[in-house]
Amino acid sequence: MNFLQALNKGYNLLKSNEIDSYKIDAEVLLSESLNISKEKLILNLEKAINSASYKKFLSNIKRRNNKEPLAYILNKKEFWKNEFFINKNVLVPRPETEHLVEEALKIIAINQRKKLLEIGIGSGCLIISILKERKNCYAHGIDCCEKALKVANINVNLHKIKNRIKIFKTDVDNFKRDKYDLIISNPPYIDNKHLKYLDVSKHEPLKALDGGSNGTQMLMKVIIKSSQLLKNNGKLIIEIGNNQKYKVIESLKKNNFFVNKTIKDLSNIERCIVSTKLP
Ligand code: GLN
Repeated sequence: MNFLQALNKGYNLLKSNEIDSYKIDAEVLLSESLNISKEKLILNLEKAINSASYKKFLSNIKRRNNKEPLAYILNKKEFWKNEFFINKNVLVPRPETEHLVEEALKIIAINQRKKLLEIGIGSGCLIISILKERKNCYAHGIDCCEKALKVANINVNLHKIKNRIKIFKTDVDNFKRDKYDLIISNPPYIDNKHLKYLDVSKHEPLKALDGGSNGTQMLMKVIIKSSQLLKNNGKLIIEIGNNQKYKVIESLKKNNFFVNKTIKDLSNIERCIVSTKLP
């Protein structure tokens, strides 16, 4: 069997299971199994595949057919400008979350020395992306999930920013350490009534998705905690879910925040809110 025949087998298996991205997924999974780049794969379609690589390829196709995200099968995902280690203990980084990085970088000038906090650090992709672009900043990151913290630590080491970040295992209610210039958070915000109907809930950690009844419980906790931990005029940047904008803005105002702006994602859904803690 050659690379092309293996690839066609992969296409067909994924296609018959209605995986829309069957073409690119099969190519990525085959090049991964062969440990070569996709370009090299395409240029060598006549080459014979060895049985170990073919077996690995088929087992990965099987995982993908079970709707497991590619990022978990490959143990990696691109986010902002870097690649991060990812496993099933953390959410797969989403492109819409890059809005939070973008907004943070607008707030912090290139050489500024700011103290940042991320609530619910997960894989660490968000805070690490910001720290890599702002070399004078220092951050704390918290998460209540031990297994997620392991992933965050792997990424901290991978991206060599160990001396600029400290990570704590704690829930948001019990954290009190410092005062910060900027807090960022992409907390769980899916309404738990809808959770079981979503594809994401089959493979991704429920703890990172479940925002309680109507999805805003963790967002409220983050807002209240941030109002205590931010310096005066410090900024809070949060990600929100569908139809949560008005409820979140109301809570921000109640907790003495000025709402600077809301940002829509590429699907035209209000996804990110930037606010300032008033003195
Ligand atoms: N953006 C994710 C989704 O819609 C949810 C992430 C979260 O709850 N913070 O699947």
